[in-house]
Amino acid sequence: MNDKKTSLQEEMFSQIHGRELFEQAKSYAYAYMDGVYDRNVFPTDEAIKTLNVFDESLPKAPGNPGEILRLLHEHGSPTTVAQTGGRYFGFVTGSSVPVALAAKWLSDVWDQNAALYVISPVSSQLEAVCEKWLVELLSLPVGTAAGFVSGTSTATLCGLAAGRNELLKRQGWDANADGLFGAPNLRVVVGEQAHATVFKVLALLGLGRARVEIVPTDDQGRMIANKIPELDSRCLVIAQAGNVNSGAFDPIDEICDRARRADAWVHIDGAFGLWAAGSRTKKSLTRGIERADSWSVDAHKTLNAPYDCGIILCKYREALVAAMQTTASYILYSEKRDGMHYTPEMSRRARVVELWATLKSLGKDGVEELVDRLCDHAKRFAKNLCSKGFRILNDVVFNQVLVACDTPEQTKATLEHIQRSGECWCGGAVWNGEQVIRISVCSWATTLADVERSVAAFVNARNTVDLSTNTEPGQM
Ligand SMILES: *Cc1c(COP(=O)(O)O)cnc(C)c1O
Repeated sequence: MNDKKTSLQEEMFSQIHGRELFEQAKSYAYAYMDGVYDRNVFPTDEAIKTLNVFDESLPKAPGNPGEILRLLHEHGSPTTVAQTGGRYFGFVTGSSVPVALAAKWLSDVWDQNAALYVISPVSSQLEAVCEKWLVELLSLPVGTAAGFVSGTSTATLCGLAAGRNELLKRQGWDANADGLFGAPNLRVVVGEQAHATVFKVLALLGLGRARVEIVPTDDQGRMIANKIPELDSRCLVIAQAGNVNSGAFDPIDEICDRARRADAWVHIDGAFGLWAAGSRTKKSLTRGIERADSWSVDAHKTLNAPYDCGIILCKYREALVAAMQTTASYILYSEKRDGMHYTPEMSRRARVVELWATLKSLGKDGVEELVDRLCDHAKRFAKNLCSKGFRILNDVVFNQVLVACDTPEQTKATLEHIQRSGECWCGGAVWNGEQVIRISVCSWATTLADVERSVAAFVNARNTVDLSTNTEPGQM
C-alpha cells in the first residue's frame, strides 16, 4: 500500500495531532477574553499603525503556523474593537453568549456545510429545532419556515423575493421562469425611515430603490398609518420593528389591518426589534406581527449570538422555498430538512449551531431577561445623561438612545472625544435634521457600572470640549 504523504501534508497532520498550535490559539483567546471587558473599546492610534505588518506580498513558501498565530494576536487582538465587552454602543452590535462562543469553537472544528441533510445531518436537525423554537418564542404562525443566513440584509432579500414571486404568482406570472420583464406591475410601500438595506434589497430584486411609495413618518420615525396609500393585492409593504436610530416600532397592527384587507404582502424588518416579542413587558411593541407574511431578524444583535447569524422567517414555506429553489442532477434531496432550500447560498457554514446554543442556554426566561436588561440600561443611560444636562431626542422605548449637546458643534466634538477616549464607543447620526450621538445597548455584558462609567465619559468629553472652545475661541 502506498501511504506516501507530501511533506506539507505530513506537516499539517503533525499540526493537528501535536496540538501545540491549538493550545497557542486557546491561550491567546483566553488572554483576549480576560482583557476585553476592561480595555479601551476602540484601538489606539499606535496599535492601528502597526497593522501595516500585514502589508506584504503573497508569500511563496508555506508559513510558520505558530508565527502566523502570533502575528494575529500581537497585531490583530489590540486592533479589534471590543464589541463583545460591555461599553461598545456603536451601530446595533451584539456580543456573544459564552456557551454560543464555545459551541462555535467546537463547530469550527466540525466545519460543516449546512447545504443539505446528506452533507450535515446535525446541521439539518438543529435548523429544524431552531425553526420551531423561534416560531414559538416570537409567537409567529405555526408552520412558519426559517432560513439561516448571514444577517438581516440577506434575510430581507429572501423575504422580499418570496413576497415578490408570490404576489406575481397570484397574478398568474412565474417570476422564476420568466423574470420581471413584462411582468404585472408590483407596488412597493415603505416607511420614510426604512433601513438602508431595504433599499439595497429592492435594487437587487429589480423592484427599484426609487419607484417605491414612501409613507411619511412621525417624530420617532414610525410610519403614520393613515398616510399609507390605498393598498391592493400587488403591494409589497415593508414595515419596521425597531428603527435603527430611535428604536421605535411601526404601528404593525394597523399596517397589517390594511394589508390583510387588500391581500398585500407584509415583510417586517425586525433586525434587532423583533426580539421584543420574547419579553412580556416589550411584546406590545410588536403587536400584530403574527399577521405579517415574512420577517427578518438578526440573532447577532439583541439575542447575542456570535456573528454572523440572521434569520428569514416566512409564513408560506412553499413561497420561500420556491424563491430559493436550486436544481442540479447531483443534488441529493432528502426527506429531512435541506437548509439550502431556504437560503440564497448553497454552501453555508452551520451558523445554526451557535443559534441553537444561544437559545438553549438562555431559554425563554433568559431571552426575556436579556431583552429587558438591555432596555433598562438604555433607560438608565438616558436618565443619567439627562440629569447631566444632555438632551435625549427620542422616546426610549427599546435599546436605542439619541443624545445631543446644546449645539451641533458641541455634539460632534463631544462624540469625537468619546470615541477617542477608549472609555466607550458610540456612533453618530443625523436625526430629524440634527446631529446626534447614538447609543445602542446590545451586549449581555453591559453592567450598570458600565453605563455609569460611560455616562462619566460623556460628561468628561463635553467638559473637555467646552474648555477647549472657551480658551481657544474659533477653534471648532
Ligand atoms: C442591522 C440592521 C439591518 C441590517 O442587518 P445586517 O445583519 O447588518 O445585514 C437591517 N435593518 C435594521 C433595522 C437593522 O438594525
